[in-house]
Amino acid sequence: MSKRNDVPYRNNLPENLIPKQWLNIRAFMKEKTPPLINPATLKPCTVSDLEPVFCTELAKQELDDTTPYIDIPEEIYNFYKMYRPSPLIRAYCLEKELDTPAKIYYKFEGNNTSGSHKLNSAVAQAYYAKEQGLKGVTTETGAGQWGTALSMACAYFHIPLTVYMVRGSYLQKPHRRTVIQTFGGDVIPSPSDTTNAGRAILEKFGKDCSGSLGCAISEAVEKAVTGDKVKYVLGSVLNQVLLHQSIIGLEARAAMEMYDEYPDIIIGCAGGGSNLGGLIAPFMRDKLLGHSDPYFIAVEPASCPSLTRGKYVYDFCDTGKVTPLAKMYTLGCEFIPSANHAGGLRYHGMSPVVSKLYHDGYLNEARSYEQTKVFEAATYFSRCEGILPAPESSHAIKAAIDEAVKCKETGEEKTIFFGLTGTGYFDMTAYESYKAGTMTDYVPTDEDLEKAFANIPDFGI
Ligand SMILES: *Cc1c(COP(=O)(O)O)cnc(C)c1O
Repeated sequence: MSKRNDVPYRNNLPENLIPKQWLNIRAFMKEKTPPLINPATLKPCTVSDLEPVFCTELAKQELDDTTPYIDIPEEIYNFYKMYRPSPLIRAYCLEKELDTPAKIYYKFEGNNTSGSHKLNSAVAQAYYAKEQGLKGVTTETGAGQWGTALSMACAYFHIPLTVYMVRGSYLQKPHRRTVIQTFGGDVIPSPSDTTNAGRAILEKFGKDCSGSLGCAISEAVEKAVTGDKVKYVLGSVLNQVLLHQSIIGLEARAAMEMYDEYPDIIIGCAGGGSNLGGLIAPFMRDKLLGHSDPYFIAVEPASCPSLTRGKYVYDFCDTGKVTPLAKMYTLGCEFIPSANHAGGLRYHGMSPVVSKLYHDGYLNEARSYEQTKVFEAATYFSRCEGILPAPESSHAIKAAIDEAVKCKETGEEKTIFFGLTGTGYFDMTAYESYKAGTMTDYVPTDEDLEKAFANIPDFGI
């Protein structure tokens, strides 16, 4: 089936072949993902439990584990057409440089102004907020990609937005903050004194606390539930976000099909699990239906190793313990990872869907890399392929390179496909520190992890 030289560098689907439905992988799972639990009742969450926090339509999507395909509303589809399809690129230059018999493909989601895949869900969530006639939405942002994407989407649908930005990033990435403000978003560094959750964390960890995603989530949720016609939106982890991100995998599968290609190995970086969940969705469907058997790899930072070293238990999705409980691989909701340049991967938990697929062995492997190794791969990649990758995405690059090198050793002509989730233009401080040799690799000790595990509440479920 080798069509080595027929495949173009950039395989863009024609506009009329952009998928018109999202794929809900939960509908294909033999064993369903354990439900979200309301911590007050210890019963599975219902739409009415979620409605005080989330838009109604999104709450429905969150709990829907039976509808296999969900129509993409026309207004969202029209927005998608402004920047989609994203290119599926055959990495000819990287293959040549590595001198590997493997074929390498990547799906590049950094071609929009927000610079990452997060826009795919941001536009959907802003649309449903508008449809419901809300007066505003709140959210958190870690590295800033989600805040940027959401501010673009909210500007388009004329919805006021408040963003709690993890203080470390707020200080480290002032330009991200300014982009969000330019699109009209109100940015507050977290932990802040604007919420009870923020004040409690400030008291416990001090005013120089660099914050965490989990902590910013608590603040944004509190702001939403105490506001009038304001709801909370989230850029990862949730089932609805994975649903929206399925556009990535669906486009990729369709584009590959045009050239009779199908990946043997599929690789995605994993923070909260949304790009990975979306990237693998149609291929995982094929696998669950017994039609194919690709090998899936999730890649995370060694500094925040939820899949590789976490526990598969019920835990809160945030540090302030105000969210529902999710069964997921977690380091403990109070785990605050060390500063790491892949800010988008610094989350204590993992999507319940990705967690379940990994637990059941359908997602074959999780691995972690230290950040200097990741930047080495990022630098190598940028010189072959002419794209400056985001540190988060570079975790997947590193794994793809390692797999391609293995193919060279064994002579196997495998087809490797990975998600290149974004650009690294706002991460130049990180690149600088890598180049200067001042970048360090912090890996939590078993003792550190045990301390964090001890804070996972035991609900007896
Ligand atoms: C946010 C982000 C990630 C990680 O988030 P997931 O939900 O795990 O996909 C990865 N890459 C980039 C560029 C991001 O902005």
